[in-house]
Amino acid sequence: MPYKTHVLMRKICLLLLFVVVQNGIFAGPEPKKKESKKPKKVIFLIGDGMGLAQITAAMANYQGRNAFERFPVIGLSKTSSSDNYVTDSGAGATVFSIGKKTFNGAIGVDSLGKEQDGLFEKLKRNNWGTGVIATSSITHATPASFYAHVASRKSEEDIASYLLRNNCDIAVGGGTKFIQNRKDQKNLIAELLASGFYVSTDSALQKIDAKKYIQTLSPNGMKTMQEGRGNYLQKATQMACNNLTKYHGKYFLMVEGSQIDWGGHDNNFEYMKAELLDFNEVINSVLDEAMRDGNTLVVVTADHETGGLSLLENKNDKLTFTPNYSTGGHSGIMVPVFAYGPGAELFAGIYPNTEIYEKFLQLMNLNGISKTRK
Ligand code: MG
Ligand code: ZN
Repeated sequence: MPYKTHVLMRKICLLLLFVVVQNGIFAGPEPKKKESKKPKKVIFLIGDGMGLAQITAAMANYQGRNAFERFPVIGLSKTSSSDNYVTDSGAGATVFSIGKKTFNGAIGVDSLGKEQDGLFEKLKRNNWGTGVIATSSITHATPASFYAHVASRKSEEDIASYLLRNNCDIAVGGGTKFIQNRKDQKNLIAELLASGFYVSTDSALQKIDAKKYIQTLSPNGMKTMQEGRGNYLQKATQMACNNLTKYHGKYFLMVEGSQIDWGGHDNNFEYMKAELLDFNEVINSVLDEAMRDGNTLVVVTADHETGGLSLLENKNDKLTFTPNYSTGGHSGIMVPVFAYGPGAELFAGIYPNTEIYEKFLQLMNLNGISKTRK
């Protein structure tokens, strides 16, 4: 081949190769949009009143494992309610249960006070196990929002009666006075037993092997960590997970660090910190199990921040900080969302708190589930 033709051929070949690569002929078919892997178990941990300042402050200088740093996916949730930029825990948890913003104080009802078909109802119609574990009473705003439908969070006796609807298989926390020796004279324990629950009002955590149980360990809220509550929340969570696998291995469990909020309302930093460190250990043990299991989605968030906490310079020891509260109430700052496991990637980004419910429905295939129970 003459020299010039040879060079020309090479040039044409290179040009062709360039065109082919540019047009993606070697790239194969366009990849399909990846469907999120679906979890068989969902553990939803709510740190009531747990904002970024609470996490930062409690975990500063903590010698143990920081559970929050173990999550691969982080998002931010905008927490306002339908009638207030600053939500309360009723509206703040109802939004996770019905997917709609509602008024402060509401439990499982929309902004017009209308009962809504909630996450637990949808889950039960689809044969999932459901449960709530708290360090408040089981009838307090956060756990109540998942199984009850009342206009006021204060109606705790009414809230307890909603357990008879059988949409919440397991409830553990305080609150004996709302099921026993009630003001309305109703014997709720007898009714719960009749509808198939195992019921315990013993003050020590009972080892229970049952598909459905209610366990209240104190008249109202549980002891604080500082009063010696110990690892109750971790043990109650593990036991609930074991029992909920009886629902063909499919369950949704809500676990609340209820008193992080109460320490905030008291502007009591040490109270808040002890509660948050306990919650950190619960998350660690849930994550350990989820990592072994591979089918568990773990989502951690808050309903709102409490106390308007900021970490100010400590003039006496500049390597530490001075916790500074700006209110005895809640604040309107966004709260973090941490996710691990199948579908975790959906929780990245910044979104209104309503979307957490939407993501749960999508991941548990609950969209379009008819209202007639199978
Ligand atoms: Mg709460
Ligand atoms: Zn609060």
